[in-house]
Amino acid sequence: RCGSGESCFSEGTLLPFGNIEMNPCSTILNYGQGLFEGLKAYRKEDGKLLLFRPEQNALRMIAGADRLCMPSPAVEQFIDAVKQTVLANERWVPPVGKGSMYVRPLLMGTSASLGLGPASEYTFLVYASPVGIYHKGHATLNLVVEEEHHRAIPGGTGGVKTVANYSPVLKALTRAKAKGFSDVLFSDAATGKYVDEASACNLFAVKGMVISTPPDHGTILPGITRKSILEIALALGYQVEERQVSIEEMLDADEVFCTGTAVVVTPVGSITYKGKRTEYGAKVDGVCQKLHTRLTGIQTGQIEDTMGWTVALN
Ligand code: PMP
Repeated sequence: RCGSGESCFSEGTLLPFGNIEMNPCSTILNYGQGLFEGLKAYRKEDGKLLLFRPEQNALRMIAGADRLCMPSPAVEQFIDAVKQTVLANERWVPPVGKGSMYVRPLLMGTSASLGLGPASEYTFLVYASPVGIYHKGHATLNLVVEEEHHRAIPGGTGGVKTVANYSPVLKALTRAKAKGFSDVLFSDAATGKYVDEASACNLFAVKGMVISTPPDHGTILPGITRKSILEIALALGYQVEERQVSIEEMLDADEVFCTGTAVVVTPVGSITYKGKRTEYGAKVDGVCQKLHTRLTGIQTGQIEDTMGWTVALN
């Protein structure tokens, strides 16, 4: 817990998973003054555990906390809380190849404020759950371009992982799923012509040796998987471009894929835009598959981590 002001989180405690008490006037419940993070712990073949770039999650939470007028745990404190949570639940981390442990740090204003204003007390907590593999063999995502709602606006909070970014997406997502789509593709609010991202993952288009993705200008979440894939792609000899990508250009791409902690790197099988469906042929030997193999190899310790991205837990 922390009072307002500088980073001042006290030593935490490990508790069994369960309900928490909350003041009904807390700023998280009333004004959405909350942030979350998501990262994974992976088991290596020798049974030991690895975290993937946890300092990046800590830094993203610090940046988001500044945007929402909140204090944030320091990087070391954040990583320590994540480590303790995973180690306390070690036996639930699936074996290599069977999944991972998803870890969810949450930072929120937990004191009362009837009028609009930041809280005077904050709670940082971390919980974890084992998850299976998203990218099973030939799993692909079928996206539909959302034409009514936008996820983020310039100057808004799209670039930080605030809880308040997710409920406005539910309507479009629920509608898309009811029609059989896997996720929604959000376009930019300014023109509706350019790709922003999907509801919880970033998007990439491949054309020849060029891999393009929308820029981190505040309306997409700067994904840690996105950042890692850009670096891996460069190292593998691709040309990478962070720039506006139009929907039309994405429809014309050789491959489209999305990245995120949950989806890792998953190919997009189709995009439906204004009622017309564009299919991308399944490429067993494609760019997306190469990037997936390299990234998951590093995450699970099967490929040497020359980037220094993984943090050993035990
Ligand atoms: N965009 C949004 C809106 C997300 O919620 C996520 C998941 N955190 C991502 C992109 C991907 O980010 P990351 O690679 O850090 O998981």
